[in-house]
Amino acid sequence: MSQRRIETQCVQGVYNPKKGESRVIPIVQSTTFKYETSDQMGKLFDLEENGYFYTRLANPTNDLVAGKIAELEGGIAAMLTSSGQSANFYAVFNICEAGDHFVCSSALYGGTFNLFEVTMKKLGIECTVVDPDASVEEIEKAFRPNTKCVFAETISNPSLVVLDIEKFANLAHKHGVPLIVDNTFATPINCQPIKWGADIVTHSTTKYMDGHAATVGGCIVDSGNFDWLAHKEKFPGLTEPDESYHGIVYAEKFGKMAYIQKAVAQLMRDLGSIQSPQNAFILNLGLETLHLRVPRHCENAQKVAEYLAANDKIAWVKYAGLPQDAHYETAKKYCPNGTCGVLCFGLKGGREKSITFMDNLKLAAIVTHVADARTCVLHPASHTHRQMTDEQLMEAGVQPDLIRFSVGIENVQDIIEDIEQALNAI
Ligand SMILES: *Cc1c(COP(=O)(O)O)cnc(C)c1O
Repeated sequence: MSQRRIETQCVQGVYNPKKGESRVIPIVQSTTFKYETSDQMGKLFDLEENGYFYTRLANPTNDLVAGKIAELEGGIAAMLTSSGQSANFYAVFNICEAGDHFVCSSALYGGTFNLFEVTMKKLGIECTVVDPDASVEEIEKAFRPNTKCVFAETISNPSLVVLDIEKFANLAHKHGVPLIVDNTFATPINCQPIKWGADIVTHSTTKYMDGHAATVGGCIVDSGNFDWLAHKEKFPGLTEPDESYHGIVYAEKFGKMAYIQKAVAQLMRDLGSIQSPQNAFILNLGLETLHLRVPRHCENAQKVAEYLAANDKIAWVKYAGLPQDAHYETAKKYCPNGTCGVLCFGLKGGREKSITFMDNLKLAAIVTHVADARTCVLHPASHTHRQMTDEQLMEAGVQPDLIRFSVGIENVQDIIEDIEQALNAI
């Protein structure tokens, strides 16, 4: 639709108020919407006409914010969810059912790992974990006849592996399945995975998109590029009649919009993990400054990474902005303007020292969060990833001494001085 640049899309995307209308996206705080005749309402239920009828299925505030995120990612449609977890669950569950299989990168957020390895397994959906840096031949071995998608993170949380998106997209397409990319850490400011071949993009909007640690939320964006009908037998949910919707065939009725239409009409209808319009409004305030905040996060993180890399108390630093980093070249290709504000490091002296260091930080707070305006810090092995075995931790790229340091948008000198005093205290 709009050919405007991404900064303008952040501020003004999708919403074009007419004369006398609210300048800011309105919060439509209503569960329900009024109609004149019973027939009008019936047509909505039959998906014969577009219109709002119940906020679990669609809400004007949420649609505006989802539309903005779709625009930022270069997709054609999007759906907000209550959290990043529900976004990733719906994204996969929309095309996988019991007996199906998918391939996922080992470099994953801990919550996603649990969702895929434990909870979805209970639903009869299996995944095979692959090393994202492995060769095409190696990754290819993971595909099976019942494989339905490939899932990976642009920049993994917390291991900060930068995905070779083209490699993954080519592999997925060769096997007739879509690539789903969780773009939470890069944000569309630093990378638009759809441009590199990803078919579906997910977000925990809880992180940079909100950016102020105010609301938990998620989003699924569809590129509209995957041809479901060309792989008819693999995706019966999209290409065969939905009996719960009077025999609608989503791919035929909605064409490029089929995937998101099904996610809304079926999954959101039945599972109901909606984002509240209030939260969508707050998320939108974050989106309006995303293009200003993300570069500042990256600029600060780069300086902190360089400081740490030069400090002899530090055993190792992982940040793709450092030329010595294993993912520096990949990052240059996919995220030429910077990766994210999160970096990881370990202290000489291992896990114990890392924990003491964290306890001595004053400006950086220990919180179960990442990617917001305030600098914060976490020890994944003790916190977000504590359910994982040491072996699983290493597979996910999470060393036991790993400190995840989320660099905020404060003055970077203050952040570095805080690190310095905490290092001196151990
Ligand atoms: C936080 C996070 C999630 C989960 O999102 P919630 O909003 O906390 O449910 C998923 N993926 C990534 C990469 C994350 O950082």
